[in-house]
Amino acid sequence: MDFDLTPGEEKFREEVRAFLAEHLPSTEARKKLGPSFLPEWWRLIRERRWVGFDWPKECGGGGGSIMEQYILKQAMLTARAPALGRDYTGLGWVGPAIIQFGNAEQRARYLPDILDSQSAWCTGYSEPGVGSDLAALACRAVRDGDTYVVNGQKTWTSMAHFGTGLICMVRTDPDAPKHDGISCLLIDLASPGIEVRPIESFAGDHFAHLYNDVFFRDVRVPVANRVGTEGQGWEIICSALQRERSGIAEVNRHHEALERLFKLAADSRIAGKPAIENGALRRKLAAFDARIEAARLNGLRSLTRQVRGENPQSDASINKLHNCDLLVEMAETGLQLLGDASPYLGDTDASLYGGRWQVSALGWPTTVIGGGTPNVQKNIIAERMLGLPKD
Ligand SMILES: Cc1cc2nc3c(=O)[nH]c(=O)nc-3n(C[C@H](O)[C@H](O)[C@H](O)COP(=O)(O)OP(=O)(O)OC[C@H]3O[C@@H](n4cnc5c(N)ncnc54)[C@H](O)[C@@H]3O)c2cc1C
Repeated sequence: MDFDLTPGEEKFREEVRAFLAEHLPSTEARKKLGPSFLPEWWRLIRERRWVGFDWPKECGGGGGSIMEQYILKQAMLTARAPALGRDYTGLGWVGPAIIQFGNAEQRARYLPDILDSQSAWCTGYSEPGVGSDLAALACRAVRDGDTYVVNGQKTWTSMAHFGTGLICMVRTDPDAPKHDGISCLLIDLASPGIEVRPIESFAGDHFAHLYNDVFFRDVRVPVANRVGTEGQGWEIICSALQRERSGIAEVNRHHEALERLFKLAADSRIAGKPAIENGALRRKLAAFDARIEAARLNGLRSLTRQVRGENPQSDASINKLHNCDLLVEMAETGLQLLGDASPYLGDTDASLYGGRWQVSALGWPTTVIGGGTPNVQKNIIAERMLGLPKD
């Protein structure tokens, strides 16, 4: 595909760059300002409709074309600007589910808060014993007049302890085939009968409390909070997961990680010699660089399909798989350098580089397992793309 920009797209890119030059404080200034700078940042980008830029204009979004979305995202990532909005899950897949499957009342009620960074949505799919085989979920919702009564448990629910709402998949028809008996409810996390309990992470303080079990005991949820029809939950999950996985598949952070890895190699020694002169390490770093480029090209292939209005097939799964492999291997190389190569700085304290490498190496499950494990992505690629038979 020809990626030359049209004059209109070129103008838009200049507009974004000019905005960044004027409004994005330097990295140093941002460090001093801390999170206090974010509300103003979100206000400014919201004013320009760059929050929810991919959403239709009539839903409060920016109505950006696929190429404009790409231009905006690239410019923001290159400038290492903060996220385009606070409610990552709301913007990423809850809002789009409401836009695609919800009704006008739900759009009016939920979308403005997502765009104004007032809400914090969480994802309620997984249950104990139900992860990869998500269609087996058992959390039950029984209709009682204008409400559903929900009983059961969700697990691994990221951020539920400071979330405002949960996009929750529940079983409304236990007699239907398992994929057909699921419905999607938007549940207020402050509803009576909900208990959120922390799951401690092995990664210690850095990840001490991000994940939770969520228990439902006779939680009453208005029928008006159901997205789509009863039994449409599986279709909604599939669409939302596609979006979640494509968000994970972004290469810019790999460039940053590789830069840090080069710096670490430059500061380390292997067998008394500068690590950066070690042939095996140099080959490894070069291979990372080549694989990041492959990931970038894969992303562009996916973009091409979207611009042409073609089915993106299993692009999100391919990209997630490839990116997760890179993430884990680069973090492990960093750890090996810290461990085996005795850093040149003579500092073997675990807090070297702020403990960044240890945190990346221990923190990989969020990216790798969340949104579906690598094995599940391989199954999707094998069955849907390569046409291989199911086991
Ligand atoms: C840090 C973190 C954050 C998370 N956040 C959320 C969240 O916010 N909301 C939410 O709903 N869920 C969340 N999850 C849950 C996540 O989606 C599930 O953990 C994931 O889908 C795997 O499910 P499972 O843990 O039940 O493992 P299982 O499904 O039991 O899998 C165990 C192993 O078996 C393999 N396996 C399973 N089935 C197959 C198959 N058919 N073919 C080949 N291999 C297979 C898997 O690849 C894996 O290696 C999170 C998980 C983690 C670790």
